[in-house]
Amino acid sequence: VTDVAAHDPAIFDLISQEAERQRHGLELIASENFTSAAVRAAQGSVLTNKYAEGYPGKRWYGGCEVVDEVERLAIARVKELFGAEWANVQPHSGSSANLAVYNALIEPGSVVLGMDLSHGGHLTHGNPVNFSGLRYQIVGYKVNPDTERIDMEEVRRLAHEHRPKMIIAGASAYSRTIDFAAFREVADEVGAVLFADIAHIAGLVAAGLHPNPLPHAHVVASTTHKTLRGPRGGIILSNDPELGAKIDRAVFPGYQGGPLEHVIAAKAVAFGEALRPEFREYAAQVIKNAQALAQAFMDKGYRVVSGGTDNHLFLLDLRPQGLNGTKATKRLDANHITISKSTLPYDTEKILHGGGIRIGTPAVTTRGMTEADMPKIADLIDRALKGEDVKAEVHGWMGGFPLP
Ligand code: PLP
Repeated sequence: VTDVAAHDPAIFDLISQEAERQRHGLELIASENFTSAAVRAAQGSVLTNKYAEGYPGKRWYGGCEVVDEVERLAIARVKELFGAEWANVQPHSGSSANLAVYNALIEPGSVVLGMDLSHGGHLTHGNPVNFSGLRYQIVGYKVNPDTERIDMEEVRRLAHEHRPKMIIAGASAYSRTIDFAAFREVADEVGAVLFADIAHIAGLVAAGLHPNPLPHAHVVASTTHKTLRGPRGGIILSNDPELGAKIDRAVFPGYQGGPLEHVIAAKAVAFGEALRPEFREYAAQVIKNAQALAQAFMDKGYRVVSGGTDNHLFLLDLRPQGLNGTKATKRLDANHITISKSTLPYDTEKILHGGGIRIGTPAVTTRGMTEADMPKIADLIDRALKGEDVKAEVHGWMGGFPLP
């Protein structure tokens, strides 16, 4: 960014402010992470200058011999990482990866069974103002009210009742292991395709710490920027190359034009990083930290949805504290502790506010935090929620955890 300083001081100043915010803040948004300098350098490279509509070896533009190799390497690495036979690394985001999956696999108007949004599903799994909710008939499965976990018998019952063309397994705010094999059984019973959206847990899957959907799902999509710790972007994977060819067409020329080869290079760097043994250690620490942090909150008397976590995140129910997601976010933001507000299963708060917050450990783990640091996070959050000003303490403490 030093080149930006002289050329465009206004933007340079804003980038510097954001770097400072990231450095001194306590980042607990479950979908965020800190990329390596190598990922950022690849994304900031001259590859951004190149048009490359099409796929390696089949482009509509000349001069693609180098970016062909970049994209081939990204594809080869992500296939190795997830054990997939086919991959598309071009989607600009997780949502656009999902759009391609819908477009390739089902007709508009089809019935889709996905996780209810207020129980953890994503916008693209059926929000009424999203393309998914506008164009498809969405049926939502909820978690069991007692266990707050996905109830496969309920999924089965809804599948037999509504006969969906596609079933989505995956979530944005669900802290428990997803049983992809069980989802496939249900999909087969009703002749539906199984789509696994692993946007959140991709890094844990890559590290072998969450069951891999690839042996079970017909198609798998993900973001690359959450637990996977790559640049902002999407990928689609499958073990069925025929299905893959359909999805390739749905991405380009279906709804995208030129791929972002600079982002694809950064994805390749991140996949390379995730293939190293250190990444497995990182992902294991992410889970240990989430479990330790959830426990630290429970020790303080807070209610954690489903009583804990198997992955990188958990939900805190703040209704017993007389708070909601909006109020809590405001108090924490004022102390430079960033989380996201969240609806809870069977929430009694307005959707706009949500009854609680979602907390994740991928970012603090990248900064080097371990289980020993989690009680301190719970303490800072607890005090900030009670109205104490802990900002200076947050800044001082975060100074001890360098950014990559
Ligand atoms: N799918 C799930 C489960 C997600 O949690 C997200 C992001 O929050 C997405 C898809 C969409 O990703 P993006 O924000 O890159 O469009």
